[in-house]
Amino acid sequence: MDDTSSKHQIDELTALLAEVAHQTSNGVVITDTQRRVRWVNRAFERLTGFRLDEIRGHRTGELLTGPDTDTATKNAIREAVKSGQGFDKDILTYRRNGSTLWLRAICNPVAPGSPGDGGFMAVLIDVTQRKELERRLKITSSVFERSQDAIIISDADNRIIDVNPAFTSITGYTREEAIGNNPSMLSSGRQGPEFYSSLWRSLQEQNFWRGEIWNRRKNGEEYPEFLTITRVQLDEPGEHYYVASFSDITALKNHAEELERAAHYDDLTGLPNRQLMVTRLEREMNHCDLNQQPLAVCYLDLDGFKTINDQVGQGLGDRALVTIANRLRLAIRSDDTVARVGGDEFVLLLRNVDDERVYQRILDAVRQPLSIGPTTANITGSMGITVYPHDSSDGERLVRHADQAMYSAKEKGRNNHHFFDPTLDENLQQRRQQITELLQAIQKDEFELYYQPQIQLRDSAVIGVEALVRWQHPDRGLLAPGQFLPSIEGSHLEERFGQWVLKHALAQQADWSRAGLKLAVSINISAAHLLAPGFSRFLSRYLADHPDQDPSLITLEILESTALDDMHRASQVINECRDLGVQIALDDFGTGFSSLSYFRSLPVDVIKIDKSFIFRMLEDDSDRAIVESVIYMAQRFNRTVLAEGVETDRHGEVLATLGCDQIQGFGVARPMPAGDIGEWVRQWQARHPLTVAAFVQGGQ
Ligand code: C2E
Ligand code: MG
Ligand code: MG
Repeated sequence: MDDTSSKHQIDELTALLAEVAHQTSNGVVITDTQRRVRWVNRAFERLTGFRLDEIRGHRTGELLTGPDTDTATKNAIREAVKSGQGFDKDILTYRRNGSTLWLRAICNPVAPGSPGDGGFMAVLIDVTQRKELERRLKITSSVFERSQDAIIISDADNRIIDVNPAFTSITGYTREEAIGNNPSMLSSGRQGPEFYSSLWRSLQEQNFWRGEIWNRRKNGEEYPEFLTITRVQLDEPGEHYYVASFSDITALKNHAEELERAAHYDDLTGLPNRQLMVTRLEREMNHCDLNQQPLAVCYLDLDGFKTINDQVGQGLGDRALVTIANRLRLAIRSDDTVARVGGDEFVLLLRNVDDERVYQRILDAVRQPLSIGPTTANITGSMGITVYPHDSSDGERLVRHADQAMYSAKEKGRNNHHFFDPTLDENLQQRRQQITELLQAIQKDEFELYYQPQIQLRDSAVIGVEALVRWQHPDRGLLAPGQFLPSIEGSHLEERFGQWVLKHALAQQADWSRAGLKLAVSINISAAHLLAPGFSRFLSRYLADHPDQDPSLITLEILESTALDDMHRASQVINECRDLGVQIALDDFGTGFSSLSYFRSLPVDVIKIDKSFIFRMLEDDSDRAIVESVIYMAQRFNRTVLAEGVETDRHGEVLATLGCDQIQGFGVARPMPAGDIGEWVRQWQARHPLTVAAFVQGGQ
């Protein structure tokens, strides 16, 4: 082979090799001994963005490295090259556009025999992806290593492949002890097979389970953990592994328990507090419903404890309370509850008490001598009791009822118990509600006075009318006094209501008078209203302000029972009113337990015989006898007699023969609205012409 042909062959081979170098996907760079670029392949141009013609002669180190390129790597490369050796290093390089790229550079001297003399040739492999993966792996493994949560990785057969250091610190097992084992090595046995089968079902169906579980440490100690298990599917079909991570939540649980204790138990005595008592009460009520047993709710208050506390000081007082709390705890059965609900107040929930002596026994336990500092005291308690379901109230009200009963127990004296009476309370509740309604009725002006005429038997003259109140109820229609007066009586509304009646009746009388109708008006006055301070003062002021109004045409009707209850006081007020010129009538006479002898002592003008006697007087001899004697006595003592409830003419006739002065009743007219009275009077006078003269006379 001659020179030319061998040169030709070499050129061909060089071109061929260059082509091969161009074809590979890795970058190839050939440098001189100073690492200046002599040649790069197309893959190099693609990877770095630099073209051969613009970088020929430039140093590769200057071209490709940048601020984040590791200096140690750079130095190592420089050293290797200087000594004419190759290197194989991962290096962070920079593209022409400034973006970064991880390259594995495998660099060797071109002529291996004489190191570095022929320059270098480097193959550059893009390892960016691998580097990224490594980075992530590094992070992941640092998470695994440093996590505070224990992590177990187990294979498809649930055999432990790896655990992290937190696993060891939580469970006490080393990595070596764990690997190859089943995680059930931690099982505490607290969870049954059902629990685990549902856990595995969830893993199979959702690749995931999370929950609280009790496990056991190597030292045998049980602890609660919060566990998450994930099933990780691998690319190969059917291949998977499990990652379980858990944290020890003992501290968390302890903290929650502490909070729970603070929220539900009394600090001083350790007894349940009011809040827990309320929860227990609901539970006990359910229990009693199910078992059809009674539940006693008892409110116990120590007698005079505040004084003791003040005397001995709070420290000793607290000690006494603790002792009493312990005694109470011992005095009840295990399924009963005693709670401290206030300073010296306790609530006891006692199931199925079949013997009343139980309550006194509890009080006896409290009463035992107690040493407080240097002295010994006998502290007693008072107990109010209500029994569910006899008292069918809700929990809150049961406690309130027991509390109410406790006050009654205190009234009996110390060391007593008292039962709440639910029937009393129901009435009370209704009454309270009615009073609220009645107050609104006054404010909304829903009351109205009706008037019932009163007639003089002698000449059928209309002598006056009685004001009778009605309630125009928005829903229930017109209500008679019997339907609401009992609620007003004895309440704080009584006086206010009475004033309303009095004012309206007097104003009505003045209206009639201005219209030429002179009518006496009878007004019913309740006991409390009459005896309220200032009653007669109000009347005198009213009369002074209305000089036109004739006081003799005003009659105050007072129940016989009122007059008798506090005769001294009643007589006094009655006399004051009579001094003003006002007439007094004794209403419902005969129904009280008065005897006729009271006649003389009571300063009244008119006696109204109660309608019950009038109703029966035609058939019942004894009723008739009463009517007769009342009329007789009234005449003797010079009082006017009015018979109520005259329903028929026959009654009127008989009363006339007996000498009765006046009558009132459905037989004459029913009570009617004020506006109807004028017309009624005209018609009555037309039918009884005799009355005209008498009426005019009476009105003068
Ligand atoms: P009272 O003062 O004895 O009034 C007479 C009651 O008998 C009235 O009932 C009247 O409607 C009824 N009455 C009248 N004639 C007859 C009759 O022939 N047959 C029957 N069966 N009943 C007759 P009322 O209006 O229901 O009042 C009942 C009671 O309420 C009154 O008895 C009175 O004590 C009280 N009352 C009424 N209005 C007032 C008031 O404004 N203030 C006070 N404090 N009490 C009032
Ligand atoms: Mg009356
Ligand atoms: Mg009456």
